[in-house]
Amino acid sequence: MPEGSHRFQAGSIHCTVLADGYCSYPSSWLFPSAGRVPLAEALAERRQPLETVLSPYTCLLIESGRNVVLVDTGAGESPGATGAIVARLEMEGIRPRHVDTVILTHAHPDHIGGAVDARGRPAFPNARYVIAERELEFWMNPRADLSGLRVPAEVGESIAATARRRLAELRLQLEPVTGDFEACPGVTVLPAPGHTPGHLAVLISSGGQSLLNMGDAAMHPLHLERPEWENGFDLDAESARATRRGLLERAVAEDMRVMAFHFPFPSVGRVAARPDGGWDWSPGW
Ligand SMILES: [Zn+2]
Repeated sequence: MPEGSHRFQAGSIHCTVLADGYCSYPSSWLFPSAGRVPLAEALAERRQPLETVLSPYTCLLIESGRNVVLVDTGAGESPGATGAIVARLEMEGIRPRHVDTVILTHAHPDHIGGAVDARGRPAFPNARYVIAERELEFWMNPRADLSGLRVPAEVGESIAATARRRLAELRLQLEPVTGDFEACPGVTVLPAPGHTPGHLAVLISSGGQSLLNMGDAAMHPLHLERPEWENGFDLDAESARATRRGLLERAVAEDMRVMAFHFPFPSVGRVAARPDGGWDWSPGW
């Protein structure tokens, strides 16, 4: 298996980013509101092809000494080059039974797919699965309103069907939460709606150092540089924009490192405000 883990320390908390895999999306899904020419220029500048964006899936392992927490679980057994998370954890000396808390930033398949095993049983048998109550209610409604998506309708339907199936399989271990909630000492989930109604960010703080895991509040560094370029997977573009801005402004003001699940590995870095209203991304811890 190729390299795919990176370890760093936030105060006394050990953090490890772990690659679950990757998937490629048509760039029109990730940037439905971007003009074709400026998008082509921006992607060419990054030596990335115009038609498809290769999107990594990166989970976060948090070891505080007291708790073993996994933020997002990757896509699991799905078509595509994903599902490495359990093997990655084992390479870090963590067996599935050691994980006591799983935080699901939201219930999209690339985040919840690895939460169950191939037989549909919880992949982390001793873990509580923390999720926003609003997220659970949204997806369990058979008539969930997907009208805000700007990806093909069948993609939206498949996302909803997977979310419903996985959440049902996890029901005995789910811990639905509301508002800011300290999942364990030093690890707090924060409502960050827009991408999905119950989307969560995760703040890890220890010894004056903080990491703000934005989940999918941005799916590509260009969503920071060009905040007017919306993400077609966001269910509510306007609240997604407000959430993205709020998280990034807080990260700058409080000198936090930032993580985003789909950013180029290792998916952690710093943000800096640009004079044109966007933010620059500098990778690394
Ligand atoms: Zn995602």
